[in-house]
Amino acid sequence: MRHHADRQDAKDSSLVKTTMPNPPADTDSSTRPKTKGPQVFIDKRTKSWYKGNLHSHSTLSDGKLSPQQVATLYRDHGYSFLAFTEHQRFTFHSDLQAPGFIILPGIERNKSFGDPKRYFHINGILGPESMQKAATRPPYEHMQRLPMPDLEDYPVTGQAIVDEFLQSGCMVMFNHPQWSYNSFQDLLSINGYFAVEIFNYTSVMETGNGLSTIHWDAVLRSGRKVWGVASDDNHNNNRYGEASAEWDSFGGWVMVNADELSHEAITSSLLSGNFYSTTGPEIHYLSLDGNRVYVECSPVERIYFCTYFRHGYSRCDAAGKTIESADYELRGTEKYVRVECVDKRGNIAWSNPIFLD
Ligand SMILES: [Zn+2]
Ligand SMILES: [Zn+2]
Repeated sequence: MRHHADRQDAKDSSLVKTTMPNPPADTDSSTRPKTKGPQVFIDKRTKSWYKGNLHSHSTLSDGKLSPQQVATLYRDHGYSFLAFTEHQRFTFHSDLQAPGFIILPGIERNKSFGDPKRYFHINGILGPESMQKAATRPPYEHMQRLPMPDLEDYPVTGQAIVDEFLQSGCMVMFNHPQWSYNSFQDLLSINGYFAVEIFNYTSVMETGNGLSTIHWDAVLRSGRKVWGVASDDNHNNNRYGEASAEWDSFGGWVMVNADELSHEAITSSLLSGNFYSTTGPEIHYLSLDGNRVYVECSPVERIYFCTYFRHGYSRCDAAGKTIESADYELRGTEKYVRVECVDKRGNIAWSNPIFLD
């Protein structure tokens, strides 16, 4: 009972509420579905977009490259921002920032539970000013170690860490549930994370366990509103530059729509779901006009509209050519619609869900 009460308290606290995703800035849910023009969720033609990796390791935990090397690697490959998320150690390498490249302060905390063993890995990334101002704990400092509490119960310990992150002004990402052997219930029993890591590249390269969209849908089907994030979780234990097929960098990333490249603008857009995730394809446009969801993307083999309970839709070209757009007519009971664009090599772009209630 106490466990339940703890979680309820967390759910009711204002800090948790500030991290729950809001509709993307372009939407106006109060006028839907009577709105005349389309609600635009993604528009690559008119907005500023920034590429970033929200999960990264260096020699400060179990990565092979120094923070300097990792930052240089990502900056040289066209990334605009990078979060270092060392195990149990918060860092902010402000000295590694450069014009057109920022670092997000962060940490990954992890613990294993039970028999058979399963894991709980979670990222805390310093949130925007609104979260920092609402914090009830002092902010974490560069190089501060944050060991996991010595508890064995999964949801209570997990929720305690999430709550501590939120109370310290950090936004929370539920990492690689498929790799961690997490059940749907594991994710549903913990509240306060803004996103599920739906694609983790190092898990793909290591064991083929990097895709967690099934866990994301389980959370979405429960009625909760969380976003999906693709990231590398790079450790760079390969010999970088010699065997690209074995790299664990540059496999999954987020494209964030923000007014400018700053910590405040990027983290605010992440919290409000104003981004998409990808392993290659680009989503150029996504809108909802009346009952019609419409998407444009780079050339792909197939476009999926994933929804609540057996509706959904799959679109491809009958002659096997690539397609660059598709639409879907809502039936009215979908609850949410999210889009996946899959190219001929199997690379995927995931939109965030459009929530319909
Ligand atoms: Zn991890
Ligand atoms: Zn990691």
